[in-house]
Amino acid sequence: MYQQNEKLDSRPKILPIKKIVKETETIWTFIFDYSKFAHLGSSKPGQFVMLWIPGVDENPFSIAYDDGKEFWLTIAKVGDATEKLFEMGEEAKVGIRGPFGTSYEFEKGDHLALLAGGYGAAPMYNVAVNALKEGCKVEMIVGARSADLLLYEERVKALGGDVTYHAATDDGSKGHKGYNTEVLEELLASDSLEGGPVTRVFACGPEVMMKKAAELAGRKGIPSAVSLERYMKCGIGVCGQCCMDDSGIRACKEGPVYDGAAALKLSEFGKYHRDSVGRKVEW
Ligand SMILES: Cc1cc2nc3c(=O)[nH]c(=O)nc-3n(C[C@H](O)[C@H](O)[C@H](O)COP(=O)(O)OP(=O)(O)OC[C@H]3O[C@@H](n4cnc5c(N)ncnc54)[C@H](O)[C@@H]3O)c2cc1C
Repeated sequence: MYQQNEKLDSRPKILPIKKIVKETETIWTFIFDYSKFAHLGSSKPGQFVMLWIPGVDENPFSIAYDDGKEFWLTIAKVGDATEKLFEMGEEAKVGIRGPFGTSYEFEKGDHLALLAGGYGAAPMYNVAVNALKEGCKVEMIVGARSADLLLYEERVKALGGDVTYHAATDDGSKGHKGYNTEVLEELLASDSLEGGPVTRVFACGPEVMMKKAAELAGRKGIPSAVSLERYMKCGIGVCGQCCMDDSGIRACKEGPVYDGAAALKLSEFGKYHRDSVGRKVEW
């Protein structure tokens, strides 16, 4: 169901940052022009690239958009590498490897519920763009602490009539007051949803949110998929850094997009992850 990209290439390509769009103070979208590298234009929604900042680090980021001419990464400033990236500015050069990993797979005409928290809205937007081309109907459910932190609202609304943007905020400043999983639960329970019942649930964001999404979909008997975010070093399944207890699946190779019901059986899913030297860190 979840496929690897056959044209996988693990050599970094050096690319200038074409444009930077400031989404919030600490989350920016970096746009790259890569029409010269044809193999990179074949990514699928849910896949990631490794972004190398020379002299600092190399880190995984989900692809937010890819039309074969340019691709976008929406990145939160959280530590050394991302702080450096935010200082670099347009025209600065970085290295890109990928695309890597599995993708969100849907069928023509599906009614998708896309649940996103934080920068998870970016890969979910990528799913929406591709799913609409296949005649799917999309419910995009984005959660944030407050209205000013909601991501991708204008872009999703610009996609047209077959996609509905549902906002959920902790403080109630926009949309539903509370968790976006509550909105998902309501949509799954509704028997009067325009376009018929939801047929598939995809989630990307905090692991407790994704766990709940997989549980809700499971209770409804519909398939789901989540994105496993684990510390990655090689990104191509060699180093074993991102193996998950107890199955040993590699988040970079058998994931990051992984069947929701199968993820619920991973003993660490929703509970802990590991840092760069393998120590357990509770979510
Ligand atoms: C498949 C995948 C897709 C991702 N997509 C996005 C995205 O679209 N946007 C985004 O902002 N972030 C994304 N991340 C998270 C991103 O990789 C980390 O936030 C980033 O690496 C932090 O680097 P740093 O040096 O700035 O921060 P650090 O201070 O080094 O780390 C901050 C936190 O980031 C995580 N992290 C650090 N290095 C890595 C690494 N090599 N691999 C995984 N996690 C790491 C750790 O949990 C750490 O506690 C994704 C991660 C994965 C695994």
